[in-house]
Amino acid sequence: MIQIDLTGQVAVVTGGSSGIGLATAGLFLQAGASVAICGRNAERLEAAKASLTARFPEADLLAACCDVLEADDVAAFAAQVASRFGRTDMLVNNAGQGRVSTFADTADEAWREELELKYFSIIRPTRAFLPMLREAKAPSIVCVNSLLALQPEPHMVATSSARAGTLSLVKSLAGELAPERIRVNSILIGIVESGQWRRRFETQAQPGQSWEDWTAELARNKNIPLGRFGRPEEAAQALFYLATNLSSYTTGSHIDVSGGVARHV
Ligand code: NDP
Repeated sequence: MIQIDLTGQVAVVTGGSSGIGLATAGLFLQAGASVAICGRNAERLEAAKASLTARFPEADLLAACCDVLEADDVAAFAAQVASRFGRTDMLVNNAGQGRVSTFADTADEAWREELELKYFSIIRPTRAFLPMLREAKAPSIVCVNSLLALQPEPHMVATSSARAGTLSLVKSLAGELAPERIRVNSILIGIVESGQWRRRFETQAQPGQSWEDWTAELARNKNIPLGRFGRPEEAAQALFYLATNLSSYTTGSHIDVSGGVARHV
């Protein structure tokens, strides 16, 4: 088994208080890194901090309230990381959520909100952490993207469109930052069990239907070849690979974590 020691390195995970971000923070801590997570909701952040500290009692962990859409919040988060750790080696742009809407029911304001979320959740943290990444020995940025970027769904028209745009953004960033040795990659996920799917389960499941039955039925209806939702850890492992030197010769690229849903060759 390949083992990687990240002692002395710092990983920043936006949206680290739940789902994929929380699982990713756990992997970094397990490998010995210091970790900073952020989210908007203070209670969720505290719960995440408590669960990570219970699993990793020696964890060097910073949990900060920060809305990645607020420039001042993001600047304050980067300042907290600088003051606590003095460096950032890896940035995972993960914060966000999807929007279920068709063209017919997406108003202008909803389009603006969705485009702002998808673009600025990458742009703001990247800009704020770049000065520290530039000082790191093997810096990297990884963005959580969706298979919708390549395989749009009409029922998620705005998210699909924004995801395609940010896939292009990641490629451009990779090109611009390669001369500075900063690698930039993304993962394209299908459906991963997480907070947002738990919330949908609570509103959409039949009375008495279990989480397992509900997700299995959805996986069947959505023709997921591997027959199930992904687990946050499975997305986190791909993020970990792209963030660390395990992928030292990879930039401007993406990994598919969709359970076989991608139809292209
Ligand atoms: P969760 O809802 O479990 O986690 C989302 C995390 O992001 C939470 O920590 C949340 O905390 C945080 N967050 C959301 N908005 C902001 C914001 N504006 N500023 C700071 N933090 C924020 O969902 P997932 O783990 O599934 O989502 C992770 C990423 O994966 C998202 O970008 C999502 O769009 C993407 N994705 C997920 C898919 C899936 O099937 N799960 C499919 C495709 C993409 P808080 O709410 O407290 O701010």
